[in-house]
Amino acid sequence: MSSEVEKVIIIGGACAGLTAAIYTSRARLNPLLFTGSMFGGQLMMTTDVENFPGFPEGIQGPELMERMRQQAERFGTRIVYEEVTRVDFSSRPFRVWAGEKEYLAHSVIIATGAKPRTLGLESEEKLLGKGVSYCAVCDGAFFKDADVVVVGGGDSAMEEALHLTQHARSVTVIHRRDKLRASKIMQERAFANPKISFVWDSVVEEILDVSKGRVTGVRVRNRKTGEEKEISCEGVFIAIGHEPNTEIFKGQVELDSRGYIKVRDFVKTSVEGVFAAGDVHDHRFRQAVTASAFGCMAALECERYLSEKGII
Ligand code: NAP
Repeated sequence: MSSEVEKVIIIGGACAGLTAAIYTSRARLNPLLFTGSMFGGQLMMTTDVENFPGFPEGIQGPELMERMRQQAERFGTRIVYEEVTRVDFSSRPFRVWAGEKEYLAHSVIIATGAKPRTLGLESEEKLLGKGVSYCAVCDGAFFKDADVVVVGGGDSAMEEALHLTQHARSVTVIHRRDKLRASKIMQERAFANPKISFVWDSVVEEILDVSKGRVTGVRVRNRKTGEEKEISCEGVFIAIGHEPNTEIFKGQVELDSRGYIKVRDFVKTSVEGVFAAGDVHDHRFRQAVTASAFGCMAALECERYLSEKGII
């Protein structure tokens, strides 16, 4: 166990966590940040980020994260590339376990983000990496001139579909309703792309073919007519939203029915001195820039808390 009590531990090394690190390190709180298994979070699976202010030509997701990391380290953030496996917020100082070690902290900023939601099919799990993917940017190039399917109707699904048209011969979007949830501009782009077609009101019942050990198609059911049909394809990209990474915080801070951390005053959790920033509580906006904004708010509130408690 480390006997030193950190002023602040930040859990999560993507937009929210790194922004919190930039602010808390500039406030001379000497933050200790754990990246978890995925430094940079979801932006590491993205190519062009066109809507992060300050980059009129766009910037690659991994490059943006690398720049945030450098900016955080410039002011003294200590970054540990380990996963936090357990926390105890029931007494003070707070306790945080990562790797073999236990760490103590006067305050904690949780910025663990969210991960892709799954369809929950056995065939999906068995064919993961054998044609089933949650990231077109990561795996799209494996599907050159292939027929692929995208499941979902939100911005992520449109983004995946549009990206896949760079590689695939055809992209079929399967959506469970007859209207997309995606923003107008993404809808327009998808509708205008001749490689993209839509199967409406339909859900994927099974991904084929587990017995062959690779994706050969999907069996879909029309929710209105009950009709079932098979669509042949070599790849299935699932883009149906995300789930918060809050497993280790169950019983430690209050969560809502979907597992997101409940906050008041933007970033305060049910435990005084523990703050939450980004997709781990924000299921509404989920943008890089909003995650960063929450990271900033958490850092400022954290500094205020430490000062009020006489710790700094
Ligand atoms: P989302 O907006 O929650 O959309 C999820 C989609 O998946 C919805 O169409 C939903 O259907 C469908 N879905 C959910 N569970 C399903 C299931 N079990 N089976 C079949 N379909 C299911 O999630 P998102 O697309 O990941 O976007 C999240 C946020 O990030 C949004 O605020 C979005 O604007 C933002 N985002 C923006 C961009 C961009 O601007 N370029 C890119 C990506 C994401 P229903 O519509 O029927 O609910």
